[in-house]
Formats: sequence, C-alpha cells, structure tokens
Amino acid sequence: MKQITRTRCEKIYPNIYRIILPLAGGKPGPVNTYLFTGDSPALIDTGTRRTAQILEKALGELGLTFSDIRQIILTHGHIDHYGAARKIVEGSDGKAQVAAHKEDRTLIEHGLEVPRQQFIKYYRLMGVPAVFQFSLLFMRFIFSSLAENCRVNRFLSDGEKIMLGDYEATVIATPGHTRGSISLYFEKEGFLFPGDHLLAHITPNAFVMLEADFDLPRRMSQIEYYDSLRKIEGISPQIAFPAHGDPIRDIRGTIALYREQFHLRQKNIMSILADGEFTVYEIGRTLFPDIGGIRLPLEIFLMVSEVYTHLQVLQGENAVSSYMDKGLLHFKMS
Ligand SMILES: [Zn+2]
Repeated sequence: MKQITRTRCEKIYPNIYRIILPLAGGKPGPVNTYLFTGDSPALIDTGTRRTAQILEKALGELGLTFSDIRQIILTHGHIDHYGAARKIVEGSDGKAQVAAHKEDRTLIEHGLEVPRQQFIKYYRLMGVPAVFQFSLLFMRFIFSSLAENCRVNRFLSDGEKIMLGDYEATVIATPGHTRGSISLYFEKEGFLFPGDHLLAHITPNAFVMLEADFDLPRRMSQIEYYDSLRKIEGISPQIAFPAHGDPIRDIRGTIALYREQFHLRQKNIMSILADGEFTVYEIGRTLFPDIGGIRLPLEIFLMVSEVYTHLQVLQGENAVSSYMDKGLLHFKMS
C-alpha cells in the first residue's frame, strides 16, 4: 500500500489549526484533524492509530502534548477518524474526554457495528461470491491495525452547543455517511466542520446501515444523506473544513455536483436493469468494471454498499422492485 507521507500543520484561524495526517491508499486521501488551542485544547478527529506519533509531533511544534488535550470530538465512527483517540486519552492520563453521537458509539467502542455474521449474511443476499465473503476477515485485520477501540464519554445531540477552545459550535446531526455522523457549525465565524459529510475532491459515500437483528438494512442511507445535505444548505456556512482534502468555499456548488453524480449513478443502474434482472453484486461489477488490485476486498464492500443504497432509493420511488430467488436478492425494473 502506498503511504502518502505528506504531513503539515497550518493555522486556519486564530487558535485553530489543521493537521494533515497520512492515510494509506489513494482515496479519500490524508486525514485532517483540527486542533483548537486555548485553556482547554480540543481535537476534531484523530487520524489512525498508526499516525498518532505524527500527530503528537505536530502538537509538539505548537508546544503541546497529548497530556494537554481535554476534549476529542469525533465526527463519526470510522477508523481514520477515531483510530488514535485511545492513545491520546491514555497520553492525557484520562483527562481527555471523547465525545461523539450515540449512534456511532458501537463503531467507536467495538470497531464493528454489527456482528460479522450479519455482514456475511448480507453479502450472501447481495450475491457476493464466497471468496469475497472471507475477505471480510482480512479487512477486519487491516482495520484493527489502524484503530484501537475507544470508550465514548459523552454523547452529542443535534442542536447542542459545545465549546472547542475559545469557540462555540453547534452540533448538527448529519446522518448518511454513518448513522451517527455529525457536523460542527461555528455560527459566528461561518465555519462548518462536516467530517466526511462534505468532501471537496470526491463524492462521499452513504454507507449501508446494517442491522444486528435483521438481514436487510431498515434505514435508507442515501435518503438520510440527501436530507443531511439539505440541512447544511439551510444553514449556509461560508466555508467547510472537511476531514479529507482542502477547505470547501463553494458549498452549494459542491452539493449540486453530488446531486448530479447520484442522478447519473441511478440512471446507470436503471440502464443495466433495462437488460434484465440482477443481484446487487452483478449490477456492481457491470457498473464498476475496473475495480481490482490489493484493495479489492474493500472495493467490493464499497461497491455493494453504493449499489444497494441507490437501489433502496429507486425502490422507494417504485422505479425498481426486488424478489428473492435461491437465497439471492434480485432487482428488476418495475
Ligand atoms: Zn468516514
């Protein structure tokens, strides 16, 4: 895996810093953690466990260590965002409090949202070949090397006001990318810290939300994601500082591009279904013929998640319907 070693710390506003930490693989690229200095230093996201030392070095350049951090706000429960949280908490002698939305608690505290068996059942229903079902184990191994599970001390809810350093932020629940994704809005400054909800260089994924007690997802990730985009448009921040990539100034334009992308994806899925009835895996392989290489297990997961969540939308619009045949879920045009 190619490691991007670019690490940089830049001041984005008085007492607010962007620290760029490397992340293996091309997408979504290096992770931004944001540091708020002042009497009670706080971090938004942490990068992975593997880049904890790099983060500590960057803090050192500002005269801080992990022992100074009092608060860690996690935008959501993905490994590149919470992976180093436990190390920071330990380095602070337990003084750093970890805060996140309660719906991502399981991800942060246990690493997996549902038992592995649920993933395998879901993969089978989607028509994923057995060889890739086992590759989930491999993915799990890689993930656990990048993140340590960490206890969440405080749950954040929509509309809640919190202090980060000297600044006041409002928590905005923006589910879609994960169940418990949050954005932080600094009304006075016009700043938004959206985590992975908005990214400048790629269209964020609305990941499939699996259930521990049911074989198919009940929640519609894409619909929730669209609703969360509308929420951000309603607030109309001046600038967004995402968790990957550069700041976004044209937030409306970026969201408009996402909508075009989603529309195109759904159109392409419909044109595949015009030729017959297929499983999610079959649709995915037609839609993404080029996936492969060392990231294949992850790509398969992303592909199945993306196709399925778009099919949920199309099914909600009565454009497609599904049926079970020999233990596989098939989709067809309505
Ligand atoms: Zn994420």
